Amino acid sequence: MKHESNDQTKWLCDKCQRELELDKVKVRYMEGNFEVDLMKCPTCNQVFIDEMLALGKMKEVEEGLEDK
Ligand SMILES: [Zn+2]
Repeated sequence: MKHESNDQTKWLCDKCQRELELDKVKVRYMEGNFEVDLMKCPTCNQVFIDEMLALGKMKEVEEGLEDK
């Protein structure tokens, strides 16, 4: 599973019809808190977590921890 920058899928907020922007969002996972880039609506600040994306990000987080 890859989420590279060439994946230009546009995400829109259901409410505002605004294009979502990547933003750092604090998430709690397992016993720790992490900052991950998630899609967020710049207008209403609703964070959209696609399940596949979330799993991919969490895997990145896990792998990042193992490297250290
Ligand atoms: Zn919105």
